[in-house]
Amino acid sequence: MSTAIVVGAGPNGLTAAAVLAVKGMKVTVIEGAEIIGGGTRTSELVTSGVWHDECSAVHPMAAASPAFRLLGLERHGLTWAYPDIDVSHPLDGGNGAALHRSIEETAANLGVDGKRWRSDFGPLSDRIDQVLSEFLQPLLHIPQHPIDLALFGMRALPPATWTAHRWKGEGTRALFAGISAHSMYPLGSPTTSAIGTMMIAIGHQYGWPIAVGGSRSITDALAGIVLEHGGKIETGRTVVSLKELPRADIVMLDLTPQAVARLAGNMLPRRVAKSYGRWKYGPAAFKLDLVVEEGIPWLNAESRSAGTVHLGGTLDEIVQTELDVSRGIMPEKPFVLVGQQYLADSSRSNGNQHPIWAYAHVPHGFSGDATSGILNQLERFAPGVRERIVGMATRSPRDFEIHNPNYVGGNIVSGANSPIQVLFRPSLGLNPYATGIPGVFICSAATPPGGGVHGMGGFNAAETAFRSLVR
Ligand SMILES: Cc1cc2nc3c(=O)[nH]c(=O)nc-3n(C[C@H](O)[C@H](O)[C@H](O)COP(=O)(O)OP(=O)(O)OC[C@H]3O[C@@H](n4cnc5c(N)ncnc54)[C@H](O)[C@@H]3O)c2cc1C
Repeated sequence: MSTAIVVGAGPNGLTAAAVLAVKGMKVTVIEGAEIIGGGTRTSELVTSGVWHDECSAVHPMAAASPAFRLLGLERHGLTWAYPDIDVSHPLDGGNGAALHRSIEETAANLGVDGKRWRSDFGPLSDRIDQVLSEFLQPLLHIPQHPIDLALFGMRALPPATWTAHRWKGEGTRALFAGISAHSMYPLGSPTTSAIGTMMIAIGHQYGWPIAVGGSRSITDALAGIVLEHGGKIETGRTVVSLKELPRADIVMLDLTPQAVARLAGNMLPRRVAKSYGRWKYGPAAFKLDLVVEEGIPWLNAESRSAGTVHLGGTLDEIVQTELDVSRGIMPEKPFVLVGQQYLADSSRSNGNQHPIWAYAHVPHGFSGDATSGILNQLERFAPGVRERIVGMATRSPRDFEIHNPNYVGGNIVSGANSPIQVLFRPSLGLNPYATGIPGVFICSAATPPGGGVHGMGGFNAAETAFRSLVR
């Protein structure tokens, strides 16, 4: 029986492990933390009975993931739940704009921009599975759906600031900017429309669901598949060198390129070591997990029913804050993402005490305290929220890195989404998952298609690795 070792039990590592186990390999997963899941863990972070997602919370990419569909996570206990509204973007004074799962409902509420919204995102969301089958793999491949790829490329390659100006309304522009800001990269840069365009088109097809019981349900489902197929999972063991691993036909590394270089030492070909050494990280996250009695008193009506709320104000404001954090400047009013998962999953709350998940974009390695910046943004759009907060935990960029070594400097997507790293990750080469060491592959969010919980880095890497074995 062929053997595989997977280092790191994040969603990519576990997906790779599940794929290889299903193919009949004897798989062992080794995880440094005591609890598996990496960016998909959920716990009673603040108080008992109130469940917070420690990292990822909202899952358009997971719901649309071909890998997760193929593995059948729902058969292993994963259930998606849908808030009434996917995303709300409040503006000062109670106005704003919202992304609904229905494109018709979204367009109807965007006034003068409705028609263009429908024509921009309708064809894309209708063909999203074909677009994803091209987009969720390395750039260098022969496309099977060239027209869909071209349709998406046209919308994805320009800077988000250009795309946002296609609309007239302040709310529509801000909505697009807020969703594009998930790239954590200055919105005036080429390719920054890609994430916003993709997440909106996915939203209109698959929604922005949350996992019932918390994002850890995704982890549990993946781990269940590994165990069901005879795999083993070892926790609390941080791997420091490839030499310490037992002999295996395949080694999959759910790690950053620099960590791979450290573990491999002089086994790594010089060209690869050099390019892994050049891998760049982007801005960081500073997170507040709150327990809020009766929920947040939003001025904006749609925010009261939205799973995700983006607090950043207008397009111009978001463009400036994202530019500031990329230049190392902490903005006074940071861009804040708020998750209200309990609206779709009441098991997260304890009576009227509800978990609120919020994080701000801050400069890479930021060592200050962003607590008041985040609370002020909440208070700006929901006056009186402070009086409802009965518990709070904070996680700084440094805490993130301690929690998970893949979040270098607090960069929660394991690499800057610069145009060059979006197109060629983690290095320039025909096979981005191959490290150049026979049988050793990298499969983390630093590989195509990048950050987020979708398992596609792990899936693609496992398929590549398996093919190399049977060749
Ligand atoms: C605050 C926050 C909010 C987020 N929100 C979302 C969201 O809403 N939706 C979404 O899709 N994504 C979100 N993300 C991003 C998402 O969580 C990551 O992109 C995703 O988890 C990356 O998966 P991965 O498997 O590549 O790596 P990770 O999830 O980072 O897992 C890597 C694993 O490897 C382990 N490891 C590292 N080094 C070693 C070693 N030397 N030996 C052994 N084990 C090791 C780590 O402990 C970790 O468990 C968020 C992340 C954070 C932090």
